Amino acid sequence: MTEIILSNPGAFEMLRGVFASAISSQVVRDGDYFDANDKNILICGTCGRPRREYVKAHFPTLENLSECDVFLAPKACPCDIKEHEDMKKRQLEDYKDGLRRFSLIEEKFSGASFGKLTINANNETSIKMCRNYAMNFEKYKKKGLLLWGGVGTGKSTAAACIANALIDDFTPVMMISFTRILDLSGSDRTFERNFLEDMQRAELVVFDDLGSERNTDYALEKIYNIIDARYRSHKPMILTTNLDLRKMTEETDIRYKRIYERILEVCHPIMFCGTNWRREIGGKEFNSFEESLLKGYDEK
Ligand SMILES: [Zn+2]
Repeated sequence: MTEIILSNPGAFEMLRGVFASAISSQVVRDGDYFDANDKNILICGTCGRPRREYVKAHFPTLENLSECDVFLAPKACPCDIKEHEDMKKRQLEDYKDGLRRFSLIEEKFSGASFGKLTINANNETSIKMCRNYAMNFEKYKKKGLLLWGGVGTGKSTAAACIANALIDDFTPVMMISFTRILDLSGSDRTFERNFLEDMQRAELVVFDDLGSERNTDYALEKIYNIIDARYRSHKPMILTTNLDLRKMTEETDIRYKRIYERILEVCHPIMFCGTNWRREIGGKEFNSFEESLLKGYDEK
């Protein structure tokens, strides 16, 4: 029998109420029955173990005697424990589904994961850095990433792998292209305001395919405002782009220059393709972040 030591005689009354309400709200499942020797004890119809027990509560008195009382209380049989665990699992899955909807991540990227990537000599280093970034997000999140390189080098997929890994870890993330933001802003007046609000809640925002959107003044102004809002939130962003990093750093058109400056200030560039660009442009801070990303936490 479970025993409880009370520090206050008034607790008997409280316990009586607590246990009585726990017993009256206990769900009796189909097949459950009462013990033939004790009609108070409910037996699980599935596993045959008791689902109720007696609990003895003591209050030590001054004379060192004990006042005691016995209550009937619910007890978890193995089926109750499993049911509770299944419910917790379902709640976590529901939460994860909510995060996936929140992320706006496109269907084509929803299954992307580092485990499914084909690694070759061209992408080995960049994928390793992306993977380390995702696996040690808390360590690296002071900076974002700029995944740049030619078409078809797997930048968006790598970014989606990072997003999905974080969602699997219950981290709120968003992934969307500027083309889609501009399209949705055009068709739904509330989209932009909601997006900016959601963006504040996201621990990471991936802007996919920078440079593929219309290059009107209107579009560039919107892109700047979104990048700037993210920049000012002091939370990281990842951008993927086919633009050349050198062109971005040397841009003179102020409409682009102010966008690129914001990005390059808070995003570590990772090149996707074959040739070795690393270290030529980077300064001291670049190199130490790069070294760390290459090693990750595990191989410190
Ligand atoms: Zn059971």
